[in-house]
Amino acid sequence: APGTIEFRNVTFSYPGAEKPAVSNISFVARPGQVTALIGGTGSGKSTLVSLIPRFYDIDSGALLVDGIDVREQSQENLRSKIGYVPQKAILFTGTIADNIRYGKDDATDEEIKHAADIAQATGFIAEMQNGFDSFIEQGGTNVSGGQKQRLSIARVLVRRPEIYIFDDSFSALDFKTDAKLRSALKEEVSNSTVLIVAQRVSTVRDADVIIVLDEGRIAGIGKHRELLETCQVYREIVSSQLSEEESA
Ligand code: ADP
Repeated sequence: APGTIEFRNVTFSYPGAEKPAVSNISFVARPGQVTALIGGTGSGKSTLVSLIPRFYDIDSGALLVDGIDVREQSQENLRSKIGYVPQKAILFTGTIADNIRYGKDDATDEEIKHAADIAQATGFIAEMQNGFDSFIEQGGTNVSGGQKQRLSIARVLVRRPEIYIFDDSFSALDFKTDAKLRSALKEEVSNSTVLIVAQRVSTVRDADVIIVLDEGRIAGIGKHRELLETCQVYREIVSSQLSEEESA
């Protein structure tokens, strides 16, 4: 089906690195499902998803999108299928509407508004002086980190790609906005393949499939409950976050 991503024994090392950033990765992310990646800092989550649009090419194994090896697809064609939201949202100087429309010049006002709505950005946009025509200053200094993330998510939504990759895109959002956004998103992109890289257990616990990474390897794959029973690394992540919440 369009949007299927398959990793078969994928290993990748950054040039000059002593050991691979990801090793022996095998899993399938399917359309209609949310697949979440969780793991400690440096466990390989961002590296793993960056291989899909070919920001880097794999060293060994195979990586298929729509059943075709990504190395046999042009980067242009591949990237047109993928909506990638980077860890650090990048806005340019221009209006909010232009920033959302970026990459889809023919997007209508309705489509832009709808995307902003799903991305939970409508509220703060309405509070800005000129709404969607408000100007984003150089470097986006007049919007917060979470607002940037939401605009960056809206930008991807407006393109309606087959595949969504959210690389830690919810980390600057408060828990409530994070939950609202994921729930709106789930309806909106229900036929697409959704990959979410996350730090928080609360962001991944409702995912159809959770992949736990540890030092570049898969430590467990399953649903929240299954992983609580079967995956020591996952239990450790969960309990460390519980104690953080307790001490907060
Ligand atoms: P995570 O997203 O889970 O925090 P990363 O994929 O960013 O993990 O990092 C995995 C490993 O790859 C780490 O050891 C990290 O230091 C290394 N790494 C990440 N980006 C680069 C890079 N551009 N060049 C070299 N090493 C990198």
